[in-house]
Amino acid sequence: MTATETGKKGYVYIIGAGPGDPELLTVKAQRVLHDADVILYDDLVSLELVEQFSGQKIYTGKRKDSHHFEQEEINREVVRQARQGKIVARLKGGDPFVFGRGGEEIDELRKNGVGYEIIPGITAAHGASAYTEIPLTMRKVSSSVAFCTGHPVSSIQVPDADTLVYYMVASTVHDVLDAVAAKGRSGETKVAVVQNATRYNQQVFTGTLDEFRKRERAVYSPALLIIGDNIAHFIADNWHSKKKKVLITGGEAKRYSSTDYIMVHFPCRQIEGADLDLVRRSFDDIRSYSVLLFQNKFAVKYFFKYLFDTGRDVRHLAHSRICTTGKAAAAELQQYGVIPDLMLDSEGCGDIITLFSKHAITSESILLPGSNLHDEYLVGGLQSLGNRVTPLCVYKHGVQELEQSVDFAFIDEIFFASPSCVRNFSTMFGAIPERITVTCADQPTGEEYRKVFGSTSPIIT
Ligand code: SAH
Repeated sequence: MTATETGKKGYVYIIGAGPGDPELLTVKAQRVLHDADVILYDDLVSLELVEQFSGQKIYTGKRKDSHHFEQEEINREVVRQARQGKIVARLKGGDPFVFGRGGEEIDELRKNGVGYEIIPGITAAHGASAYTEIPLTMRKVSSSVAFCTGHPVSSIQVPDADTLVYYMVASTVHDVLDAVAAKGRSGETKVAVVQNATRYNQQVFTGTLDEFRKRERAVYSPALLIIGDNIAHFIADNWHSKKKKVLITGGEAKRYSSTDYIMVHFPCRQIEGADLDLVRRSFDDIRSYSVLLFQNKFAVKYFFKYLFDTGRDVRHLAHSRICTTGKAAAAELQQYGVIPDLMLDSEGCGDIITLFSKHAITSESILLPGSNLHDEYLVGGLQSLGNRVTPLCVYKHGVQELEQSVDFAFIDEIFFASPSCVRNFSTMFGAIPERITVTCADQPTGEEYRKVFGSTSPIIT
């Protein structure tokens, strides 16, 4: 039963999601997330983690193809949701109170009299330390540690601690090291950059202060910079780097956990997230929509997949004006031989509304193919111009991020749990690099694999 049904007051949990490995979540956070009516989550929160919970999900990060939330807007949205009597989980990367703006968010909750509590998370520094075997303190080597930020460059601080850990150093590693050298630390001091800490694609770059300063500037993201002689304890062959990385597609991730490998779970079922009956019905009266608006390439890709699957082609869209936002959506559309009537380079919600207003798209019937999470701001904005807006789910939220985020360079093996996983995987990623071993759960999955990917025989477990 949800909070709304019981007439309870809303309540907000500000939760730390940990640094990346989805299993680095506290037991308390897990319980609360299961009960949450709505989950507002940030950029660095792993999707694998968010996907486990059934509450409504609102992405508040800064990814392209998505409504861009400013901090004030997030604060307002959290309060708005809580006022509807909901249990709100505000999920943030790492720990909310370590460079997480958790303090600002509770100020807003205090101001508005909304009840809340904070559930800590494992901060990136602790995750990186454990998954690289670099102790943050060590007897006789380091007896103090400081967490600092490398952003903005103008206010980099160098505290007097044996171990320094810098957050937010994507493009400022050199600036931080210059500041550390200027403070008098020896050029021989050890330095490590830990990128994607605790994730399957974690990478560690090491050297001395002088060596790093001579290297070309590089962008590392997300990454931590650790400085101090405790780094001498680092070995490249550490527990995390030694383990095989297995991409588990579909199935219950927990069933496959093992001490032998690191599991990267890819919930393949997601493409089937669309309600096909609803999609088919929308195609039946597709001519009643005078405008089709595609906000990203996935909306285009899955809309056309279903259009073709139902035996139709682009001529069925001839009556509608077709609009896209972002270059990727327009490029994807052109692959189907369609040039948009209206094309907006940016993806900002405000820009679309301005554009539609300028082109007098004001009392139209707009179909908005997209994910299961439609952008309420956009829908409201278009409606305020006098339009009728129908969001249509053609893919489930999460597909695009996963599609972009699986880095096959780090994957040693792929496991398919079922034939549908093989098909979905092939739609999303195409080929599998030869280097990667493939295993299948059973004979039918193996058969499907041979059919979809050609002759090579997978291993059947
Ligand atoms: N509240 C977060 C920090 C948010 S600031 C925490 O406690 O960890 C964002 C910065 O955190 C990034 O720029 C990066 O420096 C660091 N960070 C977060 N996740 C990381 C990861 N998996 N690997 C390396 N650095 C990470």
